[in-house]
Amino acid sequence: MQGELLAAIAGLVGLVTGVAAGLAFRISESGGSRAHEPQTRTELPAGIAEVLAALPSSAVVLDSADRVLRASSAARAYGIVRGDELVIGDLLALARQVRRDGVIRETEIEVAVHKFGPDSTSFAVRVAPLGGTGLVLVLAEDQTERRRVEAVRRDFVANISHELKTPVGALSLLAETVADASDDPEAVRRFTGRMQQEAARLTSVIQDLITLSRIQGAEPMAEPDRISMESVVDEALDAVRMAADAKEIELVSSGTEDTTVLGDEGLLVTAMRNLVANAVAYSPERTRVSVTAEAVDDMVEISVADQGIGIPTQDLERIFERFYRVDAARSRATGGTGLGLAIVKHIMTHHRGEVTVWSKEGSGSTFTLRLPRAQTREPLSPGENTNQEAAQ
Ligand code: ADP
Repeated sequence: MQGELLAAIAGLVGLVTGVAAGLAFRISESGGSRAHEPQTRTELPAGIAEVLAALPSSAVVLDSADRVLRASSAARAYGIVRGDELVIGDLLALARQVRRDGVIRETEIEVAVHKFGPDSTSFAVRVAPLGGTGLVLVLAEDQTERRRVEAVRRDFVANISHELKTPVGALSLLAETVADASDDPEAVRRFTGRMQQEAARLTSVIQDLITLSRIQGAEPMAEPDRISMESVVDEALDAVRMAADAKEIELVSSGTEDTTVLGDEGLLVTAMRNLVANAVAYSPERTRVSVTAEAVDDMVEISVADQGIGIPTQDLERIFERFYRVDAARSRATGGTGLGLAIVKHIMTHHRGEVTVWSKEGSGSTFTLRLPRAQTREPLSPGENTNQEAAQ
């Protein structure tokens, strides 16, 4: 009996010790300096969690003791939050300031993102008090994509300005020269001829810019037309025939039937014309440019092959960029704008097709357009089918 009593007392002591140890652990978990604070963890005000989940930014809520009460997975992935700590010193300082004076603050911070290499990521940050309980909300927006888009736009605007300034500058110089040479009709004729060339150059840069801005990010075509690529090829070849004749370049075309696609005829002619115009422009005299249009499975393939100067391998990937030229002087001399292939690429994307290139320096280049083939006949409803059969 005495033995049983002793065992019961020992059990009770064990239980009390266990509870005491558990309590001590919880107090130390909340931090030595915070041991005097209330032990209950602050709750997020109702509805805030749902709002934070719907936000695109990385979101962090700090409690009155700077502990992270809530953090989106993006905030953790970017390394802004680790465990229940906000690890960016500047952000923490900002959060404390906001808690003190209740004023919303905005800033930009750089965070080293080791996960993806030694780079840093720039964040636009907004810090605001959340209710009157000492909670602070930190919202951080990754600026990488916005900065990249801005840089591309800046480059594009700088390029356009340059492309427009060159012919305008030339026009103004030529106008002065013509004024000085007013008593020399031969010189006037020569210089006004050059003025016409520069004006034509301006027109084609502007025309290409308009085409590019029309096609970039355009909505999918609501009602595409059925277009035979053979007639598109004919029209494009007609447009470059004079330039080809001047260099005695032979234009040949071949192909199979059944090269019908769905799309916008004007745009497809523009794409084809750009390719054959390049083939002629970058080929020496007395060579051949061949265009082949054929149906391959459920695609239509149109190839433009020349025996021209070819494109260095390291430039092949870049020639579809706006204003990229292998040899700027040569491109300008042939009336190029540097936008032709960018336009071709966008027109193909718009038609759910693609453009590819094969080239060997000194031997020639082949550009190939690939577009989904239109069905030979639009599918008919069963009713229409029966009627047609009955009529036959
Ligand atoms: P451009 O108006 O300068 O011809 P494009 O965008 O049409 O501009 O072409 C970009 C560059 O690609 C050209 O400047 C030229 O260097 C190269 N290129 C395009 N087509 C050919 C080709 N058929 N043969 C050789 N080089 C070509």
